[in-house]
Amino acid sequence: MGNVVPIRFTATMLGVARCHACDHEWEAEAPVGTTDLECPSCGRMYGLFEGTAVPEGQKVWTCNCECDLFYVRVDGIQCRECGILTDYEDLTI
Ligand SMILES: [Zn+2]
Ligand SMILES: [Zn+2]
Repeated sequence: MGNVVPIRFTATMLGVARCHACDHEWEAEAPVGTTDLECPSCGRMYGLFEGTAVPEGQKVWTCNCECDLFYVRVDGIQCRECGILTDYEDLTI
């Protein structure tokens, strides 16, 4: 498959989280795969990351339109913003 480099995820996610019970906002850190965060203000499990899960310290691909979110298809990755499909063999680091 050419020059395909597997995507590696870090063990933790970092980012701004918001509690949907009390509206508290904080910088959260959680293991990859965590979807519900414990709110440090009210103690309930209503915290959610505000943005997308970004792999900290890792190289990521960015489309020419500057979007870095893609659909992973069997024939390549498709930019979520502009729709361009890039073959896996064309991905380089
Ligand atoms: Zn809360
Ligand atoms: Zn694009």
